[in-house]
Parts: sequence; C-alpha cells; structure tokens
Amino acid sequence: MSQFPVTDGELMVGALPLSRLAARVGQTPFYAYDRQLLTRRVAELRAALPPTLKLHYAMKANPMPALVCHMAGLVDGIDVASGGELKVALDAAADPREVSFAGPGKQRAELRQAVAAGILINIESFREITELAAISRETACPARVAVRVNPDFELKSSGMKMGGGAKQFGVDAEQVPELLAEIGRSGLAFEGFHLFAGSQNLKPEAIVEAQSKSFELALRLAQSAPSPIRFLNLGGGFGIPYFPGEQHLDLAPIGANLATIVDRASRELPEAELVIELGRYLVGEAGIYVARVVDRKVSRGHTFLVVDGGLHHHLSASGNFGQVIRKNYPVAIGNKMAPTEHETVSVVGPLCTPLDLLADRMELARAEPGDLVVIFQSGAYGFTASPQAFLGHPACVEVMG
Ligand SMILES: *Cc1c(COP(=O)(O)O)cnc(C)c1O
Repeated sequence: MSQFPVTDGELMVGALPLSRLAARVGQTPFYAYDRQLLTRRVAELRAALPPTLKLHYAMKANPMPALVCHMAGLVDGIDVASGGELKVALDAAADPREVSFAGPGKQRAELRQAVAAGILINIESFREITELAAISRETACPARVAVRVNPDFELKSSGMKMGGGAKQFGVDAEQVPELLAEIGRSGLAFEGFHLFAGSQNLKPEAIVEAQSKSFELALRLAQSAPSPIRFLNLGGGFGIPYFPGEQHLDLAPIGANLATIVDRASRELPEAELVIELGRYLVGEAGIYVARVVDRKVSRGHTFLVVDGGLHHHLSASGNFGQVIRKNYPVAIGNKMAPTEHETVSVVGPLCTPLDLLADRMELARAEPGDLVVIFQSGAYGFTASPQAFLGHPACVEVMG
C-alpha cells in the first residue's frame, strides 16, 4: 500500500534510508513528510481534473509550516480554519485572493485578521454578517464573503458527515435566501458559495452525486444572490485507503463529472471560478510516523512491542479519532523491510491506558529494542490532531524529507 520505496531492506524517505533519517532528526518519535510524494500527488490529481478547476489545500489536515509552504507552491489556494492557520498560510506566501476561511465559531479578532488580509470569508451565521459589516466600516476594507451552505442532502458513505441534517457548519440551504438578502443590505462584497458535505470518502459515485447536487443547489441559490457568483467551492472529501480491503479512489468518474460541471458553469455561472478543497487526499499518503521499540514483552503467550510514541502523538492510528471500530493502520518495521523472520505482535505506546495501541495483533518483521516502527498513511490528522500533553512524555517532532 505504501508509496515509499525500499532499498537494501530499509524504507527510503526523501532519498535517505530511514535509520539515517532518524539520526538526522536526532530523536524518535517523529513524523516525516516526503516532498516528492506530495508533488507527485498534486500532479496526478491535476491530470485527472478539468484544467480550469482550481485546487485548494485544506490545511487543517496538516498545518506544518514547511509543508504548507511546499503545498502553497503546488496548489491554487489554501483553505484555513482559524486565525492561526491564516498566519501560517500567509507566511507560506499563499495569495490572499485564493485563501478562504471556514469554521463555525469565527471570533471577532479572527474576522478582523481575515478582513485585513483580504481573504475570502465563508459566512456560517447571521452574526458573522453583523460582525463583518462593523469591521468593514471600522477598517474601510469591505469584507469579501461567500456563504457556506449546509446542504439539504448528505454525502453518502462518508467517514465523517459535515453537511445535511442539523449541523453546526454553514447555514441551512432553506435560510440562505434570507442570509443573502442581509448580505446585500450590509454592503459586504459577496462572491459566492461554499459547500462541504464530508470527509474520507472512497466511493466515487457518492462524491460524484454530492458534487452534482452541490452544483444544482448553488444554481438554485444563485437566483437569490445580490451579485453574480464569482466563486463556487464544491468541497472535496476524497478519501485514502487505510485498512485491508480498501482501494485507492478511482479519480476517472470524478474528473469526468467535474468536467461536465465546469462546462455547465461556463454557461450558467459565467463569472464563477470553480474550486475543490482537499486536505487528507493531498497529504495523507506522503507522511509516516516513526517510533522506536523500547521494550519487547511477552504476556501469556502474546508479544508486545512497546515503543516510545503512541496515541498522544498519533490519535488516529490508535483508532480514537472519530473511528467507530478500531482497525490497524498499515505498519512495518522500517529498518527491516526484507525480513527473514515474522511474528504476530501488538505495538503499544508508553501511556498507562489500554487505548494506547498502535497495532493490534499484526504480522510484522521480528523486531528488537532499537528497531523503528513505521505507521504509514500518517500525513493527515496526525501531529496536530493528537493530545500531545497527555501523560507528559517528550514531544514529537515533524520533518520534511
Ligand atoms: C476538514 C475540511 C476539509 C478537508 O477535509 P479532508 O477530508 O481532509 O479533505 C475541507 N473543507 C472543510 C470546510 C473542512 O472543514
């Protein structure tokens, strides 16, 4: 499943053998993100998508500044979810015209930062209109806004649903005409719509359906807009395979459907720039988490490898970040990729809780203290999505390879 090459029995990260990279980093545990894999992923995706469609990186998936810098040079824009992320995006030289800000609880200070930066703000409540109108008056800077719509449909088969039904995200489609009238009266610079239905979807037909329905909904809502639609963000939700039996997403039907949408938009919303925003899909497979084996214990016939990292650095791999049923991420002993001896083991962390489980009864190369356990598919929702302070162990670091 992994895209990382193996040379002389060692995993290679950015042209360095893993053990050499670990020496360069100077500590374990660490996350490593491979620049070449990031670049390749964006190129492959672009090849499958219509050329005029804009590609944004939703940086909450991985906000490491050096990675955001690398991504800013590859994609057309960055989507941020806080004032803190906005700072990282701007420091990474993202063009403010192509930065947008979404999130259900934007505070006044963050809105002020966003207006001053000249980025697009995805409005998610009536309060945000009032706040932005006041900020625009104070700063003599008219806020650029789009409306984040909570659609009247759900993204089927999604790992995490973020639209449809009652949600804290966006404004219900039925309330949008009233919200648009309010934006018209407020003097804010209206630019378009943002729809985001959900995350981690591996079914192309579900993504196609959500994108088509999003486009239809945007066409309908455009009739109530105070000015022509210049920006339409159709969301994303593209998943990556984590578990046995999961397949890479087939981009062909998604690309074909988006080409139809782009073509229709050129006639029905002629001023609109169409965007999709992806986090996990762009960065998830380019990252690994590496921890060192500290101890090897046998308990009633079952072997445990105890490593120096765990759920406090990688909550998702432990199965505690939104998963209903715990499954093993792909794991390997990164310095023993061509082993002669295998064994079934559990990989656990140093925390005093049975939840600190990184691999449950997996067949791995026989490992000893000092060996390097690698968790693949760790480039998204890893480092910053984990409770690092829990139990007070040393911090994890992140590097680019
Ligand atoms: C989290 C989020 C994304 C990124 O989702 P992925 O599943 O990582 O692609 C995109 N847009 C919005 C609005 C989000 O909240």
